[in-house]
Parts: sequence; C-alpha cells; structure tokens
Amino acid sequence: MVKFGQTVSFKRIIINYLLKLRLPADLQLLKYVMSFLNTIFCMYSRLFTPLDLGFTQLKNRVLMGSMHTNLEEAPNGFKRLASFYGLRAQGDVGLIVTGGISPNLEGRLAPNRALMSDQSAVKKHALICDAVHSEGGKVCMQILHAGRYAYQKQIVAPSAIQSTIIPLTPKALTFEEVEKQINDFVNTAILAQDAGYDGVEIMGSEGYLINQFIAQATNQRDDKWGGSYNQRIQFAIEIVKRIRQRVGENFILIYRLSAIDLIKGGSSLNEVIILAQAIEKAGATIINTGIGWHESRVPTIASMVPPGAFASISEKIKNNVTIPTVASNRINTPELAESVLENNWADMVSMARPLLADSHFVAKAKQKKPESINTCIACNQACLDHIFENKIASCLVNPFAVHEDERALVKTNSPQHIAVIGAGPAGMSFALYAAQRGHKVHLYEKSSRIGGQFNLAKEIPGKSDFNHTLRYFEYQLSKHNIAISLDTNVNSQDLSAFDHIVVATGSAPHSPKIAGITHPKVVSYHDVLTGAAEVGTNVAIIGAGGIGFDVAEFLTHDQSFDQIKEFADTWGIDLSLQTNGGLKPQNRSTPTRKIYMLQRKIRKPGASLGKTTGWIHRTSLKEKNVSMLSGVSYDKIDDEGLHINIRKKPRLLPVDTIVVCAGQVKNNKLVNICKETYPNANIHTIGGANNAEKLDAQKAIEDALHLALAL
Ligand code: FAD
Ligand code: NAP
Ligand code: SF4
Repeated sequence: MVKFGQTVSFKRIIINYLLKLRLPADLQLLKYVMSFLNTIFCMYSRLFTPLDLGFTQLKNRVLMGSMHTNLEEAPNGFKRLASFYGLRAQGDVGLIVTGGISPNLEGRLAPNRALMSDQSAVKKHALICDAVHSEGGKVCMQILHAGRYAYQKQIVAPSAIQSTIIPLTPKALTFEEVEKQINDFVNTAILAQDAGYDGVEIMGSEGYLINQFIAQATNQRDDKWGGSYNQRIQFAIEIVKRIRQRVGENFILIYRLSAIDLIKGGSSLNEVIILAQAIEKAGATIINTGIGWHESRVPTIASMVPPGAFASISEKIKNNVTIPTVASNRINTPELAESVLENNWADMVSMARPLLADSHFVAKAKQKKPESINTCIACNQACLDHIFENKIASCLVNPFAVHEDERALVKTNSPQHIAVIGAGPAGMSFALYAAQRGHKVHLYEKSSRIGGQFNLAKEIPGKSDFNHTLRYFEYQLSKHNIAISLDTNVNSQDLSAFDHIVVATGSAPHSPKIAGITHPKVVSYHDVLTGAAEVGTNVAIIGAGGIGFDVAEFLTHDQSFDQIKEFADTWGIDLSLQTNGGLKPQNRSTPTRKIYMLQRKIRKPGASLGKTTGWIHRTSLKEKNVSMLSGVSYDKIDDEGLHINIRKKPRLLPVDTIVVCAGQVKNNKLVNICKETYPNANIHTIGGANNAEKLDAQKAIEDALHLALAL
C-alpha cells in the first residue's frame, strides 16, 4: 500500500510532468486532471488532520485570523458578530480568533473602540461564544493594546517616541503603569474566560504595545522593562506567564509573535527564536506568526504580495519550539494552505480575509470542492479600507459578509423569468443571487467569456487573483442552472418571454475632448490590456485614477518566473531573516519604458485609491521613475507628442503612445430600446450601466445584490 507521504510526492511528480507538457495552456483539461488527482490522492489531508492541544482538540488546521469589523462598536453589534462568527464555525473553521479587544482605556486604538475591562462586557461576548459553540466551533478573543498606535488622548508607550503613522506623541509609561498594563491583560483574559471563550490571543506583533517594548527603537527605558533584548522581552513574557497562572492549564493561549518586523532595527532571527522559546516556556499553547509593523513601508497583505510570500518565515519558529505554530498572510486557497503544512512550515494556517470572502471556505475544501470557494482577491476595498473609513467591514466579492443578519437570500414565493444582459461583476452577481432566490435566469453576454472588466483587471501585475472570481462565478452560475448565452450582443433578441430585463451592460471608456484625440498614437486602456494596441517606449497616460495606475503598472512590469523572489527583492525583504527586522537593500528592475501619468486635479495622484493600498501603488510607480504630473491641462496631440500646460507653463511630452484612462461613461443604450420594445416588462439597470461615475466592482456587486433582494 502506498503511504501518505508517498502519495503526495507521486501527485507532485504527475503535476510537474503536466506542467512540463505546458498543459496550463489548456486550463479546462488541467482542471479535470487536478480534480481527478485531488480525488484520488486524499485532498488536503494535512489541513484536515485534527490538532491535539492536550486538553482539547482542534478539528482541523485552519485558524481564522483576527479581523476588526467595526461591529464591535456598533449598536446591536455583538448580536451581529455572533451571527458572523457562528456562520464561520458552521463553515468548519478549526479555531476562530476575534477582532482585537483592548484591556483598558489607554490600549484602545481610537476613543470609541471596544474594551473588556470589567464584567459589563462579558455578557455581550458570551453571545459570540454561544453562537460558535452551538456550531461545534472554538473561539479565542484577541487582546490588543495599541500602545503608540492609539489615535486617542490617552496614548501610552514604553517611551515617548511618536510613530510615523499617528500624529500624537505617546506618554511614557511609569514603572507602576507598566505593572498596570500587564495586570489589565490578565484581567481581560480572565473576563474572556468568564464569557465562555476557549482561549485568548495576545497580540504581540504588528507594532502594537508589546512589540514596542521589544524593539530597541521604541523602548529606551532604563528600568527593568528596557535595556538589553532579554529585558525588553520581559513585558511579553510576564503577560503570558501571569495569564497562564490565572486561567489554568485548560485554556488556549495564543501568542502572536512578530517573526519579521520589517522596520529598521527590528529583531534578528536569533532574537525571534529566543522570544518564541521564552513564550513557550511562559505557558503559551500556540504561536501565531505576525508579519511586519503597521508603520513598515513594505506591503504585507495587499494583492501585489504573492500568495504565500511570507509563509516560510514561520518555519524558523516551528523548528525551535515544541508547541504548534501558525503561518499567516496571503494564504487564500486550500491548495496553498495544504502546501504550507506539507512543507512543514507550520502546524496551522491562519486565514482571515479568505473567511470574509467565503464563510464556508473550510467546509467546501473538506467536501473537495475548491472550485466552489469564493476566493479573497486581497483588494482590501471592503474590509480594511472600510475600517479606515469608519464603516462596517464587508467583502467586495461577498457582500453578505458581516451583514449576515440583514442580507439573507430568502426563497421567493413568486419566481420570475429574468433576462440579464451583460456578464460583468454586476450581471454575474445578480444572476447568481436571483437564481439562489428561486428565479429563472438567462444571462446574455456579447463577448466569448463572462467577467466583463475583470478580464482586463486580471492582466494587471498583482491582480491575477481576479481569475479566482471568474472561476467562482463559472462554477456557481452553472451549478444554479443559469442559462448563459455567450457571443450574444443583445439588441434585437426576443426578450418578450421575460418578466424582468436587467441591463448590466457596464460602461465604456470616456474619450476626453482634446484636439488630436483621434491621432493614431492615442489608444484605449482596453486595447493596451488585451494586447490589441502596440505601445511604444515613451508613453503618456491621461488619467491617474484606478485604471491609470493599473495601466502604468502593466506597462512597467517585467515578467518574472519567481514572483516571491521578485517581490522580496523589489521591496527589500530578507525572507531568510539574516538581517535585523528582515530588511535588505531594494533591488528593483529598471523599466524599459518612460511613463508620464497625468491628471487635471491639483491633489496628489492616486488620492482616490484605497487608503491601505494607494501608498503601495504610488511608491511602486515612483520607484519605476513614472513621472506623475498634477494640475495638467491638455492642449493638443500631434506627431510631436502630447502638448500640455502645468500651471500655465506649456510643456511638450515627446511620447509615441498616449493611453486614455480618463474615466468611463455608462453604456445604457439598451435601456431605451428595451423600454420601447417591451413596454410591459420591468426594466432595471445595475452596475456601470446604471452609473459609471465612481463605479467599481464593489459598487457593481452591491447594486446587483440590492436588486436581487428587491425582486
Ligand atoms: P462590466 O464589467 O463592464 O461588464 C459589462 C458586460 O456587459 C461586459 O462583459 C460586456 O461585454 C457586456 N455587454 C455590454 N453590452 C452588451 C450587450 N449589448 N449584450 C450583451 N452583453 C453586453 N474595480 C474594483 O473595484 N477594484 C479593482 O481593483 C478594479 N480594477 C480594475 C482594473 C482594470 C484594468 C479595469 C478595466 C477595471 C477595474 N475595476 C476594478 C473596475 C471594475 O472592473 C468595474 O467597476 C466592474 O467591472 C463594473 O462591472 P459591470 O458589471 O457594471 O460592468
Ligand atoms: P477614476 O478612478 O475615476 O479616474 C479617472 C481619471 O481620469 C482621473 O484621474 C481623472 O483625473 C481623469 N479624467 C476624468 N475626466 C477626464 C477628462 N475629461 N479629461 C482628462 N482626464 C479626465 O476612473 P478609472 O480610472 O476609469 O477607474 C474606474 C473605476 O474602477 C474607479 O471607480 C476605480 O476606483 C475602479 N478601479 C479601482 C482599482 C483599485 O485598485 N482599487 C483599480 C482600477 C479601477 P482629472 O479629472 O483630475 O484629470
Ligand atoms: Fe478579500 Fe477584498 Fe473581500 Fe477584503 S474585500 S476580504 S481583500 S476580497
């Protein structure tokens, strides 16, 4: 009989063989082969091996990473959080970790942020515990003290040193106040136990208070909590030790340890190992891996971080402790999670946003149906960016996330016949939601594939995860028996059989009124991204919005075969951890093209991009010598290039190609045609066809959901 380890390597050999044959060109065939291989070679067997913690067992190796949702502070928020976490427990997550809860007033990230410092918070937290336990799950509460990352008056830190991301100087804690912080951590852990949690996670990474004690740059104390590395880690050790003493042995204690600080003067590998061993000795049950401080100028979770880029870091901890360890960051598929375990990099895998994107990620993997998973595309648009905008978090690809109580797809009592025209994000989502409600749906698409503009987005370097969304819809539309007519440009079709016609025909590129706009050197972003247009070496991009930035990234990117190496070299990350903080000099390739990106507004380019990703795009393009010009007015385009004015000073950009990325206009011609042809039909517009201004995929999918809920 073939043993477990052998089956996996046999599978690997077959996959390698197929890759050599260049079968990926035939994705359909590869899909069948993979699904066959997965079925016969016990798919994800490591992911679904229970983890024995001695006093308790976790049913699988998936830890749902901590995410703040803003429900923690919303009216009725804990009832809604109970539904949110309960659903993830129903979806078979092995161990859930809640968003960070502060142990005291000074530890809050902002004045209104949730804390647990006395019995008054226990009852509402019990709602979460009950919901998770009733689904057979396990849940730990994260205790987070912001330290100098607090955006509130009571901000404290080991030393009075301001961070680069908060415009407030913290007060240095006195010796007695340090004692108080430790005792408050302990108090909160006891309260969490009272609430019914299975354990707590101590947030010791991402640059929060505990990290601030550990790093020399932020801890310049001369008492027993400062000085040598061994003294600076005592704060962390004392918290774990005292919590363990008070909660007893049968309570999970996860410590989130900063394995790679990604800041100057951060910990060395040797120091990380010393800390991990001390934390184990102090009584931790599990060590979770933290990657980077919030003030680090290195992307750690955004879409340009290659999947699994940081996963191997956890191995350095795992090899030096005996308790289970958890790998983290940009692990978004069960295949990747399984390979992390197979490589022995960690004993568990943390996924946070992937469980926003699909509450039943784990259950679907267990059922060996990875193609049915709604995969997180790491856009941050509806989760992290919402948090920064003080909105309730959700998910771009799953608008039900964190809205489980208000957004259920209830079966309709009066099924309707619905024609949907256009299979972009709006049309696909509407078709799926309407079919899930019991309506009979026919989806028409003029091109040969579903996906609309996502077929362009997926070509952008760092956005290949958009392919997952297309795969997800392909699977779900077929599963829900939605009739699809591709290559069907709806104009004269007979739609009289339908009760409702949903126009989801998207938007068209806006062509600005500039003299010479029809010059042969002017091309559309569509033609650039599909390869239909040739692009020269000197390029001007008109428009510095989301698409302008994406096109600039596309035109300055050289293909690399080792994405993780290229990412690490570009951003100066020492994944081998031979340097303090894991930073090394950046090594960026020089693009062959000279790019100018222009906007009329005087504000900084890319101001409309997401708070958590805009800085990455700006840095990336600046490093590639892209000239970003604001306050531009366009004079004309001719053989010489693009003539512009910047603050009334004329300038010629001697470019050979001009790419227009100047926004979009709605493509809704069909609405009037349908109204005239079918006066009795109900006609609706969604997505770009409804409003192309400020439209993105999140808005398109939200539009689709609202209409599907209303019919
Ligand atoms: P579309 O995606 O335009 O889909 C409309 C569909 O209707 C098309 O498939 C079209 O072929 C079809 N159609 C049109 N007319 C007819 C007809 N007469 N008959 C049949 N079918 C018809 N948004 C984000 O939120 N985040 C991002 O990171 C992001 N990145 C992007 C990157 C690029 C390069 C581009 C181009 C866009 C990006 N977007 C992003 C924007 C996002 O893709 C759009 O907002 C979204 O696709 C709009 O969805 P929609 O369904 O309204 O329209
Ligand atoms: P956009 O973000 O609104 O940007 C349009 C750009 O065109 C602006 O820079 C604007 O700047 C310029 N412009 C507008 N009218 C113009 C005119 N008449 N002449 C010259 N320039 C003009 O729109 P988009 O880039 O087309 O993107 C479409 C949607 O997709 C947006 O909602 C965007 O957020 C979304 N998207 C998001 C991402 C992402 O990563 N999150 C990526 C791609 C797309 P001035 O008016 O100052 O000139
Ligand atoms: Fe992932 Fe984007 Fe959803 Fe956030 S909004 S969970 S990053 S897909």
